[in-house]
Amino acid sequence: MLLGERRGSFDEVVRRLGAFVWQADRDAESDGFGGANHIDSGIYIATRGASRQLLPLEDSPGCYHARRMTEYSIGLDLGGTNLRAAAIDRGGKLLRLVTGHTQYSEGREAIMSDMVDAIASLRDQQGAEGIAGIGVVVPGFISLEEGVVRNCNNIPSLENFPIREELSRRLNAKVILENDANAAALGEHWMGAGRGVNDLVLMTLGTGIGGGIICDGKMVRGFMGMGGELGHMTVIPNGNPCGCGNRGCLEKHASATAVSAMGKLLGYGDVTAKQVYDRAVAGDERAREIFVCMGEALGIALATLVNAFNAPLYLLSGGVIGAWDFFAPAMLAEARWRSFSFRTTNTRVEKAQLGGEAGLFGAAYLPWSK
Ligand SMILES: [Zn+2]
Repeated sequence: MLLGERRGSFDEVVRRLGAFVWQADRDAESDGFGGANHIDSGIYIATRGASRQLLPLEDSPGCYHARRMTEYSIGLDLGGTNLRAAAIDRGGKLLRLVTGHTQYSEGREAIMSDMVDAIASLRDQQGAEGIAGIGVVVPGFISLEEGVVRNCNNIPSLENFPIREELSRRLNAKVILENDANAAALGEHWMGAGRGVNDLVLMTLGTGIGGGIICDGKMVRGFMGMGGELGHMTVIPNGNPCGCGNRGCLEKHASATAVSAMGKLLGYGDVTAKQVYDRAVAGDERAREIFVCMGEALGIALATLVNAFNAPLYLLSGGVIGAWDFFAPAMLAEARWRSFSFRTTNTRVEKAQLGGEAGLFGAAYLPWSK
């Protein structure tokens, strides 16, 4: 049967074909907790936004019906090991998802082509008439003013390259650039644990620690768009040296990388944060102490953030939050005694909900967040 002959409603299509639940791993960070997403490649079409049930496009005649969507946005997340881009509607329903094929090691031109192809294919299939905008999320320090990535450890070839201008030129459309952690905060604010909360702070605990701050519903970007770098707040005055030039940065004491580094110090060899966690679960007291150290560092940062922002919600994401029961008690105790605001108000500290999808949702939300 030809695609065009199937004119049933979206729901009928779903019932007829059956849907499978997309259970992407919650974090694609290489911290030993998450592993890769269970999305190989190709294009998918969503049938239910809330539960994110997806059908492979090749098998789904529903692509015809998706054209009826009036307003959607395209988000692209250049995170992990390869890019993902999605068309998402105003209500947060994931319409289509594309994953890139290019390895970042193939260089800038290959990455740029991959990005342009992914966005263009979504726009072509979804229809150019309903598009609200394009948001692109890149890891690293970004100068939003100039649309340039200043520092990008994952993809050095993109550093100091006018990525926003070049994407706009090739796509003949305006592109909004954002840093990955800021986008994750925006994604959680829109469709995750921060729904309905206008003031929140997110910290992503991965190989480093990223941060995103939302005040009164708006992203705090600073005058050059480099705000929210919470991983580089000093928590130990003369602590571990950091690549940023400082010592005792939060990410040197509380990231997944810091947990595995502490494991090495204790003679565990070349361990991942997950392996340290497994030791803690097995009753290894020294492994548990590592998570107490991590919790204390987080608690110091948290107390400072609470004192500065008095936001009602603080979210943590990243695979290492799987060790919540081991680090959270120390984190909360530390925040409690260091912050009057924290211990005298109903301030929530919770796990983020969107995991590895937060950046993608945040990217898509960018055109609507202005
Ligand atoms: Zn630093």
